[in-house]
Amino acid sequence: MAFTQFNLDSRLVRAIEHMGFEKPTDIQHQAIPAAMTGQDVIASSKTGSGKTLAFLLPAMQRLIKNRALSKKDPRVLILTPTRELAKQVLAHLKAISAGTQFKCTLILGGENFNDQVKALDKNPEFIVATPGRLADHLSKGLFYLNGLELLILDEADRMLDLGFAPQLKQINEAADHRKRQTLMFSATLDHGQVEEFAKDLLKKPKRIAIGSITSEHVDIKQRFVLCDHLDHKQQLLEHFLQTETIQQIIIFTATRADTERLASELSAKGITSVALSGELKQSERNRIMESFAKGQQKILVTTDLASRGLDLINVSHVINFDLPKHAEEYIHRIGRTGRAGTKGDAISFIGPKDWASYLNIKALLQQEIEFSQVDGMVAKFSGVKPKKAAKANVADNKTKQVQKKKKPAAVKTKKKIIFSDINTGDMPVMRKKPVKVIDESDFKEQD
Ligand code: ADP
Ligand code: MG
Repeated sequence: MAFTQFNLDSRLVRAIEHMGFEKPTDIQHQAIPAAMTGQDVIASSKTGSGKTLAFLLPAMQRLIKNRALSKKDPRVLILTPTRELAKQVLAHLKAISAGTQFKCTLILGGENFNDQVKALDKNPEFIVATPGRLADHLSKGLFYLNGLELLILDEADRMLDLGFAPQLKQINEAADHRKRQTLMFSATLDHGQVEEFAKDLLKKPKRIAIGSITSEHVDIKQRFVLCDHLDHKQQLLEHFLQTETIQQIIIFTATRADTERLASELSAKGITSVALSGELKQSERNRIMESFAKGQQKILVTTDLASRGLDLINVSHVINFDLPKHAEEYIHRIGRTGRAGTKGDAISFIGPKDWASYLNIKALLQQEIEFSQVDGMVAKFSGVKPKKAAKANVADNKTKQVQKKKKPAAVKTKKKIIFSDINTGDMPVMRKKPVKVIDESDFKEQD
């Protein structure tokens, strides 16, 4: 099937041709016609499968075909969890809106408020935004959403994780009228809070799920390596940096402090990298991402700030120096590689402090995981048995051939392992009480 079969406006078809895309991806194939009927859509498909165009094309088509409900109000609002992702979505939007008269603007935290007021005064049809700053403008009555036709939530689950539920509710209520259409997209949408939220935001949505989290991303080779301690992780990292054929690599750490520390450790070894974290000024964040996107830097060290959505096609490797606390983030982190049919490598280090996260990831993936070993660097650590599992194993002994003789050394030190303090990440997650923005410096006003 070709893009022409969607009956899209010829300018959109030309723009797609110009981008070099011959046929729609699976998610585009299903989501574009569904969204074009005007119904709400909640859609998930693996990372790198083209979700951005799956929502942008029907949005553009709707604007071209339908008369605006209001002359002043924005017609399409796209919300994303991070500023970097918002910029990327805007770039796609610009590419497909060339040849049309529509104006689009970015409304992001960390950037000049007054400039945004001026941009809003020009009545753009499209706004791409992070929820915090957009809600601020809305609260101040600087623009209205009464004429909004399409609300699009990219990576909706992450926005909820970050505590943006109140802002999303505010935005939803400001645009609550029967002609509004809502689209929700992510690689990971099947958790309770999203479901609950979707009930408020979407009307009888069409559900589209291409594959599932548990179906393996065949383009990404996943390796898991056991580690003993920080130095061991460091040695393994250097080993992989030397032995793998790397085009570009993203190394994920648990916290901002770890990001800084690791980048300076690498620098001390003569390895150049850039470190991206939420506490940097927006201009710094932009500079770092631009230089990495242009391929001027080979190694990006970061936190979950960069786990979502970023489409950097030369990223051949992802290393989880620390595992993310929430298993969904693992799916998104490794999804920074293996995009649009390219091959990628994901290597995850699992030390005693990562064990709890590892078990969550394993449960989410529902895959048999075999640990990889590096000659001369094999860990003594062999996993911590959770209490319940240890009991179950006794009953299960014969079939599973549990090794009883040698208790893993880490079991002895079990009490000392405080999982809650570890891997708290740049943007820790609180699913049950998403009432406040946890990582304030990422989203708070800086101007
Ligand atoms: P996702 O949001 O699913 O992670 P993106 O929308 O970021 O994925 O797209 C991933 C990559 O695939 C981008 O580089 C994009 O330009 C490319 N892409 C999108 N649609 C197509 C298509 N139909 N054919 C080939 N490549 C595509
Ligand atoms: Mg995306």
